[in-house]
Amino acid sequence: MLKFDFAIIGSGVLGTTISYWLSLYETSVCVIDKENKIAAHASSKNTGVVHSPFYLDPQKRKKIAKAALISHDLWRDFAKSRNIPWKECGTIEVALDEKQHKTLEKYLKWGHQNGISNSELELLDSGEVAKKEPHIKCHSGIYCSRDVSTDYGALTNELGKISEKNGTRFLLGTKVQDIKNTYYGTKIILPGSELECKFLINCAGGYSLNMATKMGLATDYSVLHFRGEYWIADASIANLVNTNVYSVAKFSNFPFLDPHWIKRSNGQTEIGPNAVPVADAETYSGYVGSVPKTLSRLKEILSGNPRKLLFNSEFLTLVSKEWKSSLSKSAMVSRVRQFIPAIKPANFTRRGTAGIRSPIITKNGEFLSEILELESENSLHVVNYNSPGATGAPAYAAFLVKKLQDGGFVNYPSKPDKGIWNFQKILEEMPHQNSY
Ligand SMILES: Cc1cc2nc3c(=O)[nH]c(=O)nc-3n(C[C@H](O)[C@H](O)[C@H](O)COP(=O)(O)OP(=O)(O)OC[C@H]3O[C@@H](n4cnc5c(N)ncnc54)[C@H](O)[C@@H]3O)c2cc1C
Repeated sequence: MLKFDFAIIGSGVLGTTISYWLSLYETSVCVIDKENKIAAHASSKNTGVVHSPFYLDPQKRKKIAKAALISHDLWRDFAKSRNIPWKECGTIEVALDEKQHKTLEKYLKWGHQNGISNSELELLDSGEVAKKEPHIKCHSGIYCSRDVSTDYGALTNELGKISEKNGTRFLLGTKVQDIKNTYYGTKIILPGSELECKFLINCAGGYSLNMATKMGLATDYSVLHFRGEYWIADASIANLVNTNVYSVAKFSNFPFLDPHWIKRSNGQTEIGPNAVPVADAETYSGYVGSVPKTLSRLKEILSGNPRKLLFNSEFLTLVSKEWKSSLSKSAMVSRVRQFIPAIKPANFTRRGTAGIRSPIITKNGEFLSEILELESENSLHVVNYNSPGATGAPAYAAFLVKKLQDGGFVNYPSKPDKGIWNFQKILEEMPHQNSY
């Protein structure tokens, strides 16, 4: 039977960055993924924005806000050293009325509290926005010059290569079927074989809650899956606006923004993503039919805690809007036309790559905003690791490894300096927290 000190389930950006940090120690590490390649799911199928945390509450979302701020430079140096696209396009988030403008004023304060400098974040009135981007129409905007577009799939793959060179075993094409506590640590049941580890780290993305419940953890929570779809802009309009453009979310209790205008790192411009409820973390196509049919399917999807959302009129309004923009390209385009009026449905002839977000629902039927770190004696489960998870992964993974160190789980000597990033410096900037 294979034995490792650490087994990580999931080779997405989180599992791979954790494996990288652990690979700097004299310890044995494996990363298990059911797919034949690294980062096959959310970590490659996302918007690709390196987010600056101006829109994150500095009290409630302190950890991921700090991780996102710190990781910007870590990803930049790594992308540049590996020739991975790093497009410094900036973001304008627009307000369409005075009420939304108040949210932008709050974002300006939050951005500064989260460590973004004055010169990188500024409030603009409609005239100043139009001067910067003449095709944007809005009441006002907040401009963040440090936002970037990159390719997180490529970053994760390159980091995986370093982790592997340092000794990590990647067991790809290997689906974890079950996990069990043992005297030694944890036993992982694979198709036709078993593996043992002293410490298990569950980073299974859309399936991480499911994994955690196998160990009796987080049984009060449920997960919902939302497909985010994109449309690619034709060359005739792709350069109409040269920054990312977001709009203030209409329903702040739900973790979705209206579709935005995205400058991709490969030079493409896209609009999206919407947020269509689907049955599973990997339902990348199909499922959406006529509105009455999909509404009856919604009842099938919403079992357990999420069923309470059927009585939440804001949620139902949001979902029907999202469904319409999946059924009809025109509906999606008209949402973006509110702030870029020159675009038309005919300008979008190809779909982009859809991705699936898997937010956690509490027993009260509410969306959980924070990352859930669940622990048992010999395991750590990271659940609800959503946007800006790809941005924050290097610093957040370092933070988790430090907690493992403090808990006595990583007490092996470190290898001679092979680091690409400075572990100690990252930890000085991250918020402090108790060890596991
Ligand atoms: C549409 C969309 C847009 C986004 N945009 C952004 C953005 O612009 N910027 C940003 O910072 N973040 C963004 N995010 C969020 C970001 O992509 C995620 O936070 C991040 O990729 C999560 O990484 P992960 O490693 O936790 O999960 P994943 O990348 O999903 O990795 C989980 C892995 O676990 C594996 N796995 C699952 N179950 C098993 C099993 N039983 N056995 C073996 N392997 C298993 C899966 O195959 C998968 O490879 C976006 C996400 C989506 C979906």
